[in-house]
Amino acid sequence: MDFRDNTVLAEFRTEIRDFIGEHLPADWATRGGDDDGGYGARAIDQTRAFQRALADRQWLTMAWPVEYGGLGASHWQQLIMNEEMAYHRAPGVGSNMGVMWVGPALLLYGSDAQKAQHVRAISEGDVWWCTLYSEPGAGSDLAAMQTRAVEDGDDYVINGQKIWTSGAHQSDWGWLAARTDPDAPKHKGITMFMVDMQSPGVTVRPLVNMADGHSFNEVFFEDVRVPKSSVVGEVNRGWYHMAVALDFERSGIRSFSVGRRIVEEYADYTRSHPETGERRPSLRYDLADRAVEVAVGTHLAYRITDLQTRGIVANYESSVSKLFGSELAQRIQATGLAMLGPFGALTDVDDGWAPLRGRVGRGYVQAVSSTIAAGTSEIQRGIIATRGLGLPRG
Ligand SMILES: Cc1cc2nc3c(=O)[nH]c(=O)nc-3n(C[C@H](O)[C@H](O)[C@H](O)COP(=O)(O)OP(=O)(O)OC[C@H]3O[C@@H](n4cnc5c(N)ncnc54)[C@H](O)[C@@H]3O)c2cc1C
Repeated sequence: MDFRDNTVLAEFRTEIRDFIGEHLPADWATRGGDDDGGYGARAIDQTRAFQRALADRQWLTMAWPVEYGGLGASHWQQLIMNEEMAYHRAPGVGSNMGVMWVGPALLLYGSDAQKAQHVRAISEGDVWWCTLYSEPGAGSDLAAMQTRAVEDGDDYVINGQKIWTSGAHQSDWGWLAARTDPDAPKHKGITMFMVDMQSPGVTVRPLVNMADGHSFNEVFFEDVRVPKSSVVGEVNRGWYHMAVALDFERSGIRSFSVGRRIVEEYADYTRSHPETGERRPSLRYDLADRAVEVAVGTHLAYRITDLQTRGIVANYESSVSKLFGSELAQRIQATGLAMLGPFGALTDVDDGWAPLRGRVGRGYVQAVSSTIAAGTSEIQRGIIATRGLGLPRG
């Protein structure tokens, strides 16, 4: 298969670059984009404005059906959009969960009324979603979750605690998995809900990460009432709906496109700072390895798009992409630190000594979490072994 852009796709790519040029400052990407992963107070305003501008052209959710705010665009167009947005460090890339997996899951499992309300609103760029799966006692073993949703008249009443909830402090809605049948086998008693994060009884408490940023939170549910119309898909089959949403979360070209940008920046840096190569003669080979790995990862993402084009929802392929992309992100940051030596650890943008605006030191620390978030590398290897290679469960 030839993965190069045909004429139509090449024109579309140019159109996206022009749009980015019009809507972001000229030095936006070289400054490092929003630099804080998109969750800072300033970043969220920028992000929302940029996402609205995309939504005005139906570009935020371009592959969705026209009646739900998309353009019915091809998966290849969507891929090119995601590739360009990530490469140019556009605000909101990687943090709009509504666009990335809640909307796609609702399109598959939501009722017509849910699609009309929520899918449409996501496509308009005005609502922000968070993902409420993990609990203090249920991370890798997600099916062990204890948050309960109990039927009461026309409502469900929710009690329990979620943890590591990215962006909960800025979200309007929560995509929640909760236990509805405590007596069923653990994978068979879970249901998916949509929860208004302003509901009485929802408390969000910040958790500060080791890079000193506030991206995730604890979320407590105390007698939170949600109408039965908030159930997504079938009651007690939420595990299976969540698994598909996780496959959406784990696939994509973002990490490879971001990686390509960084490797190019490193190469530029070594050209203008020859002392880096003198200090570490193997740097040239390390950079070549990273560049090859980025190309391999990009083709993994293209493969998933090819599957989607043929109507197949990627499954173990998403885990392959997530595993390779998250471990590569760490290797890229380690290469950056090796290139810069001790200066690489400096992160203060204003003191004049931190090369590349301190992105390498910050990125190195932030990349640690990439092999944990969305399921650890061990869990991805387990999925690849069982679903991909058909090996027996241990
Ligand atoms: C930056 C970040 C953002 C996150 N955002 C969200 C979010 O928005 N919403 C949300 O719900 N969650 C979120 N999470 C939580 C994330 O999904 C969990 O941290 C992850 O699934 C691991 O669970 P745990 O932390 O409980 O670790 P544990 O499950 O306790 O794992 C501890 C270690 O044991 C290993 N291990 C566990 N089970 C096995 C096994 N069967 N085989 C081999 N090794 C095993 C793991 O790989 C890991 O190394 C986020 C996490 C991070 C780091």
